[in-house]
Amino acid sequence: MRAVVYHAERDFRVETVADPALEAADDAIVRVTTCAICGSDLHMYHGKVLGLKPGDILGHEFMGVVEEVGREVTRVKKGDRVVVPFVIACGQCYFCQKGLYSGCERTNPGPGGAINKKQLRPAAAFFGYSHLYGGVSGGQAEFVRVPHANVNPFKVPDGLEDEQVLFLGDILTTAYQAVAQAEVGPGSTVAIYGAGPVGLLCAEVARHKGARKIYLVDEEDYRTEFAAAQYGVTPLNYRDRDPAGFIVEDTDYRGVDAAIDAVGFEAKGSRIESALLELKLETSTGTAIRQCIAVTRRGGIVSIPGVYVGFMHAFLLGDAFDKGLTLRMGQTHVQKYLPGVLSLIELGHLRPQEIITHRMSLEDAAQGYDVFDRKREQCRKVVLKPGK
Ligand code: NAD
Ligand code: ZN
Repeated sequence: MRAVVYHAERDFRVETVADPALEAADDAIVRVTTCAICGSDLHMYHGKVLGLKPGDILGHEFMGVVEEVGREVTRVKKGDRVVVPFVIACGQCYFCQKGLYSGCERTNPGPGGAINKKQLRPAAAFFGYSHLYGGVSGGQAEFVRVPHANVNPFKVPDGLEDEQVLFLGDILTTAYQAVAQAEVGPGSTVAIYGAGPVGLLCAEVARHKGARKIYLVDEEDYRTEFAAAQYGVTPLNYRDRDPAGFIVEDTDYRGVDAAIDAVGFEAKGSRIESALLELKLETSTGTAIRQCIAVTRRGGIVSIPGVYVGFMHAFLLGDAFDKGLTLRMGQTHVQKYLPGVLSLIELGHLRPQEIITHRMSLEDAAQGYDVFDRKREQCRKVVLKPGK
């Protein structure tokens, strides 16, 4: 089959590789009909994720049709159309039973992402995300093996197009969790940092939840302006002004009820911190999280879907303490939110497909990565289709 294969930093190639086969009695093989490039894939593309080996198959946002199932699989059958969470959960362990699926302690034989591990078991495996997270072959491919198929694939109604439901497996449920953790509701004020696919969908979900005022911060005006037109956000460019200063003033010197950091550890805006990141003297930059802490009112919530790794020096924990903030974060418990968010799509309340700008063949994935990474052609989100 054809698949996107890791070779090195900025060297992802589409190659012919062996087809996947059933390995366990509860595995399924899914023929991928649509997949996407995620902002998390860019961290690997930038060489910022350890544990990748040449030959690894990438991709964790995908959907398709069940091609084959192991003898113990009852949840899906050949021919079912499914979307597959990027988090691989067993459904049985201590954490899965609590709905904390990304904490699944049975699927990841790798070391996981935490530095200070003590005796902790690693969190869940992810598709196509390095040997830190299980080394499981990913879904930017024609076929993919889905482990624990009695837990992980979710059937989708035939009436919905691929593009309407594809993001349920990652960025849409991620945005939903981020907004839920921020406790955004009718009348809320919220500041979202990062107008990539995750930040844009956070804006859509926050609008759906009845937020009164949504500020959206990025340096890419074409992204924030799209969100202003589509979701009624107030766009702010951090290159033009200090967004936190503006927002605090605009909220009568109180700050917003919640801030959402949809940027993560590669946040730009400080040359010094970006240099420290390149030199590996720190492993995350703090420009987005510091703004989030600065902009949130006393007693408010900072919700962090953006990925952070390791440590950073300039983390204003003292300011968070002074304001009595609540910080919530983490990889998404996709399986927990997926059915409810699917219903919102069916009801027409969410239209995540509107963020897509680029539809390409899987064969052109290398170009897709470049366009998304460099934000060329006003790119917001790339979806890929196997086949010519
Ligand atoms: P993206 O790279 O397309 O978007 C990031 C955006 O942040 C870009 O538009 C960039 O211009 C902007 N940005 C950079 N520095 C900034 C700053 N200082 N202030 C404001 N904006 C800044 O990626 P995405 O797909 O939107 O993903 C965003 C983050 O969410 C990534 O870290 C990704 O790994 C993470 N993510 C997490 C989960 C999860 O389970 N928690 C799931 C999916 C993605
Ligand atoms: Zn992702």
